[in-house]
Amino acid sequence: MSGGGGFDPSPPVSTSESALCRVSGGGSPDGASHNVIKGPTISSPKIIPRAEHVVSRANISDNALKVLYRLNSAGYEAYLVGGGVRDMLLGREPKDFDIATNASPEQVRDVFRNCRLIGRRFRLAHILFGRETIEVATFRRAQVEEEEGPGMEIEEGGRILRDNVYGTLEDDAWRRDFTINALYYNVQDFSVIDYVNGMADITAGVLRIIGDPAQRYREDPVRMLRAVRFAAKIGFQIDAASEAFIYDNGHLLDDIPAARLFDEVLKLFMSGQAVQTYELLRHYYLFEFLFPLTDDSLGEEEDGMPHQLVLRALTNTDARIAVGKPVTPAFLYAALLWEPVRIAMRPLLEQGVDELPALHQAANSVIEEQLRYTSLPRRFSTPMVEIWSMQLRLGSRSGRRAFRLLEHPRFRAAYDFLLLRGESGEVEQALCDWWTEFQVADEPAREEMVKQLGPAAAGSGAKRRKRPPRRKKSAE
Ligand code: ATP
Ligand code: MG
Repeated sequence: MSGGGGFDPSPPVSTSESALCRVSGGGSPDGASHNVIKGPTISSPKIIPRAEHVVSRANISDNALKVLYRLNSAGYEAYLVGGGVRDMLLGREPKDFDIATNASPEQVRDVFRNCRLIGRRFRLAHILFGRETIEVATFRRAQVEEEEGPGMEIEEGGRILRDNVYGTLEDDAWRRDFTINALYYNVQDFSVIDYVNGMADITAGVLRIIGDPAQRYREDPVRMLRAVRFAAKIGFQIDAASEAFIYDNGHLLDDIPAARLFDEVLKLFMSGQAVQTYELLRHYYLFEFLFPLTDDSLGEEEDGMPHQLVLRALTNTDARIAVGKPVTPAFLYAALLWEPVRIAMRPLLEQGVDELPALHQAANSVIEEQLRYTSLPRRFSTPMVEIWSMQLRLGSRSGRRAFRLLEHPRFRAAYDFLLLRGESGEVEQALCDWWTEFQVADEPAREEMVKQLGPAAAGSGAKRRKRPPRRKKSAE
């Protein structure tokens, strides 16, 4: 028995009988210059034949194709949808492939051995193929408050807490976020199915939310972040009606669980367009609801040090992603929260607290505050604090210190961070150059470099303890 709450248990519909073939009904959606609002009657989709679009099976992963064919041969409707179709239409390589079907999650599980059901708020099937996961979502329909029941839960403000009421392909198209994300590729006849005029928006380069913007953003405020993310990623213009609401409603993000916002932050800043994304988040007054301490610390001047450090860190992240180098949230958060930590350290230093304990105390309070907005798992916050505390140690290089630091597992990240601080004018360029040289120098040259350090450059702030006299080994 399939247990999906609210799922219509009628037998699977074969594609030939599906909504695609309905040609009757009340007119197609509005033209590209208007907001897309669903009419009261069934709308017939535009079916764009293979000859008129560029989506090709050659660009779809074999596993995604396998899932589509298998669901089809089990008698279910199944389409490729979302970012995969959008990106192929734009001539870009899709990041992943999402599939929509009329099979319930439980029915999907019955078809695939390698299937795992996930999510409570939004129940999904994941089909696992080694390193690739294909996400299969059951058609859902838009939420109407009066309809609240076991499958859906809507908060007073209109936010959807649970979204598990299943529907038809057409319902599914209308409840998606943006028109360009609601295009379906039908592997049975290679057509693209378009209920929401998404194809016109693809051509025009417009990002348009489906339906009434205020209602759709209230249902799920994360859509505001998604708007920014897609606009930055593909360079589309957010249409006027879709963007107007965002400026004044960043506060709606306060209701979103910190863990979900953390996931979203990673997508925003670790997808290769971090700089553009950051500019847009600030433009729409959204950044301050993700990183309020950072936002407060940035100051007025765009070329001021705190702002420059963040910008350079994001530029660096984008550059690394562009050449396939790994990036870590620890480094990203280290840069975003560095200025807040420095600000929190100041009164402690004035009270005479030593640098390192002051840093740790400041770090704890900044992290605690940040966790109210976006979570940051310990596996990232621990190395983040290490990157920070290494900044203090990189200043003192005398004796064996520099040699020991070089061996530190976090040295490379700490050095990269020091370079950003140098570029943004927070530390002397000479210190950065010294470390750059020290790393490549041979052993005698390194010894010489340390010897050359004047007493002032030898230590920075950190209290110098006198080493206790080494005990001589007995001569026997
Ligand atoms: P990406 O390239 O980042 O994967 P995507 O558009 O595929 O972009 P996903 O998060 O993978 O984004 O979601 C897949 C699809 O599910 C979207 O294209 C959209 O149709 C729908 N979707 C995802 N999140 C939402 C949401 N919050 N509200 C409405 N529809 C959504
Ligand atoms: Mg996707």
